Amino acid sequence: MNNTKAYSAASATSPLASTHIKRRDTTEHDVQIEILFCGICHSDLHAVRNEWSAFMPTVYPIVPGHEIVGRVTKVGPAVRKFKVGDLAAVGCMVDSDRTCPQCKAGLEQFCPNMTLTYNSPDKHLGGVTYGGYSESIVVDEHFVLRVPANLNLAGAAPLLCAGITTYSPMRHWGVRKGKKVGVVGLGGLGHMAVKIAHALGAHVVVFTTSPSKKEDALRLGADEVVLSRNADEMKKHTFSFDFILDAVAAEHDINAYLNLLRRDGNLTLVGAPPKPLAIAAFGLIVGRRSLSGSSIGGIAETQEMLDFCGKHNLTADVEVIPIQKVNEAYERLVKSDVKYRFSIDMASLKER
Ligand SMILES: [Zn+2]
Ligand SMILES: [Zn+2]
Repeated sequence: MNNTKAYSAASATSPLASTHIKRRDTTEHDVQIEILFCGICHSDLHAVRNEWSAFMPTVYPIVPGHEIVGRVTKVGPAVRKFKVGDLAAVGCMVDSDRTCPQCKAGLEQFCPNMTLTYNSPDKHLGGVTYGGYSESIVVDEHFVLRVPANLNLAGAAPLLCAGITTYSPMRHWGVRKGKKVGVVGLGGLGHMAVKIAHALGAHVVVFTTSPSKKEDALRLGADEVVLSRNADEMKKHTFSFDFILDAVAAEHDINAYLNLLRRDGNLTLVGAPPKPLAIAAFGLIVGRRSLSGSSIGGIAETQEMLDFCGKHNLTADVEVIPIQKVNEAYERLVKSDVKYRFSIDMASLKER
């Protein structure tokens, strides 16, 4: 076993602080990765503060982080996909049973025995898994992704959660040239959705409550920006969208958006508001519209997304911070005060 520097929280009310954790030695199919950058996802904050205790209670200490890019430092004897020195990435999962119908369909994210990158039972060492706010990680090669060499690594890290979370439903619902796509909420997820939908060739409309975001939305690739509080502006788009991605995690009225879908249009939720949403049945009945959810993507699709981003030279807009600023970053994240993702430069963990 290896001793590794990391940042962990000791309780729901403790700040993240420097610590040491154990990583396993590489087994047959394992890849050991020196972590270079790790994005800060809103889920990290929810988990650290145990805000999802009802369905995913946090085990302390917790080391969050599931938007990981780094360099391979060691491989097990049976590893075929990677060699020492390669760029590599790890997202939200590090294992699954590989035998259930979900795994066989390449949808490991829905496997009942899937192991999350952090706060999941660790099959190798006992206790729970520890995530990317650390110097290194050891992961089975099946769950390690290749990173296109042209991508900026700090900006590539958020692709592993924010990127695949928005890419997967857009692919599933056929977003492509000639389709009209709406994006609700221009945050970490939303800004990736705009970039990806634009790169897929769709006509992209961003819905926002703040006029100040208009310029940024256009810069990111939106063709139009609609102020969602302006009923007249909204009405102009009635029955016109093929697909709408809703990335809002706060309470909001989704009926206003369902009414903008055309026949057989779909609205997919990727944000998770804490309370149940109210839905008017007629918003779905008229036009045979549908409402769905989506959760990250399978490993094969995550690789497809990274290759797509490589081809289009597409990364997240990030503010790079040293790990010592992580608690400050969390406070700013609560206020949505970041454009559009924090990416931790893990070289900072080596200091002191
Ligand atoms: Zn995430
Ligand atoms: Zn499975």
